[in-house]
Amino acid sequence: MLQHKTYTDETFDKGRKDMDSTVVTAVSSHIPSETNELYLHEQAQRHLHSLLTDLGERGLYDAAAQCNRCGYCETSCPTYMLTGREPISARGRNQLVRLLVEGRAKDPSIAAESLSTCLLCGACSSACYAKVPTPDIVLEGRRALDGYGDNFFARAAVKTLLDAPRLFAFWLKLGYLVKKTGLPRLAAKLGIYDFLGMPGLAEAEGAVGHVPLRFAAEILRKDPALHPQGRTSVNWAYFAACGPNYLFTDVALATVRLLRRYSGEGIFIENQCCGLLAHNYGRLEDAREFARRNILRYEELKAVFGDFPVIADCSSCAAFMKSYEQLFTADADWRPRAAAFAAAVKDILEFVPADKLPHAAQAELEKAGKVTYHDSCRACHGQGIRQEPRTALRRLAGKRYTELPESDWCCGGAGAFAFTQPELSSRVLDRKLRNIASVQADTVVVGATSCLIQINHGLKAAFPSARAVHYSSLLDELTAPEAGGGHS
Ligand code: SF4
Ligand code: SF4
Repeated sequence: MLQHKTYTDETFDKGRKDMDSTVVTAVSSHIPSETNELYLHEQAQRHLHSLLTDLGERGLYDAAAQCNRCGYCETSCPTYMLTGREPISARGRNQLVRLLVEGRAKDPSIAAESLSTCLLCGACSSACYAKVPTPDIVLEGRRALDGYGDNFFARAAVKTLLDAPRLFAFWLKLGYLVKKTGLPRLAAKLGIYDFLGMPGLAEAEGAVGHVPLRFAAEILRKDPALHPQGRTSVNWAYFAACGPNYLFTDVALATVRLLRRYSGEGIFIENQCCGLLAHNYGRLEDAREFARRNILRYEELKAVFGDFPVIADCSSCAAFMKSYEQLFTADADWRPRAAAFAAAVKDILEFVPADKLPHAAQAELEKAGKVTYHDSCRACHGQGIRQEPRTALRRLAGKRYTELPESDWCCGGAGAFAFTQPELSSRVLDRKLRNIASVQADTVVVGATSCLIQINHGLKAAFPSARAVHYSSLLDELTAPEAGGGHS
């Protein structure tokens, strides 16, 4: 496990000295794995073979070496902006990974802290002229330093999700039933999680409100309209990402209604988890297996229905699936299949045709109040989606729509970051909340599950009259014919 350290001037100074005292020289264009000091050759399968960067396919060292330390991204990096600490900026992180690969990181605890505190938001890559893929570089370092997610809980959760998804759903429902008894809240209040050394669980308990006892996949699997007989083409396939499936069932159902309303007939792909959790928490081999199963399912359906887009409604998952090819760069069979699947993936944020949207229902518009849009990191930085949702929201909400200052500043959710780094996460969130308050927004539209949890958690405490809502949910509410929407 990485040691999560408290941020002090002492650790900063130590880290800066460590980095500044080392002059990194440009070395060969490729470091073979046997000279890679970050991980042993036997662990190579648990790492990416190469990274697909904007400047071409690169080994880890060369990808990190694309960072010329210009510092142009520094003001985009939330962790740097909040702490002013070089080791936890993009430049610092890339530098530390280079040192780790060279075996020259003098104090690995600095690297551990640096890599574990990255939000993986990608704001640095958006700002960078060379588009250095810092989040992927950070993850490569983390995998090795973090022990490849081999601890009991991570392994058990991922393996159950992979090999026994129905058992996973059963355990989750059991946990939700326990939550409904109020016992976890009581445990949080009594400080039991702190006592057990897991304060993040108290955060998690507080952040998640309503929990469903019937998951989206269970509902959609039984919908005959999503399993059309005798058809040879469909306009879309819905991919139930874990957040909408297991936690925000209403989002998943809203997405399917929207797709039907504006894109005609479609199917439910009956997917597995996209693999992002396994990917981000060290278990790359498991992430590849999730990907292979989803690709196989897509290919089976493609043989029946021909080409169709695969629509996901969590931007983190959509962005990850668009990068599936990178998981298989050393695999001649799976690489092109992964690339074909990735090309079919669309985020609901970019898929709803804004020009087909009708006037919104007046009552629903009034309920929404002043609407603004938060750019989920993996939508804007991960997929370049910025304009499409804004166009749709402006069309629907008209003058009620307002731009959010620093809309692409991360909310601090970042998967499990809010639970693993609660102190830093709440500082990142605080700036988001101040920006929301500055425009007096009532409804904050988001495209990713962790943003929905994190922003609502913050709003509940600081600005309770406002709410965060998923893009699909709001569009569905505003355009539902039964609510009076749909008239042009
Ligand atoms: S990541 Fe890019 S913008 Fe940031 S310091 Fe490196 S080269 Fe400059
Ligand atoms: S991914 Fe985000 S937190 Fe990490 S270095 Fe880049 S901007 Fe900073």
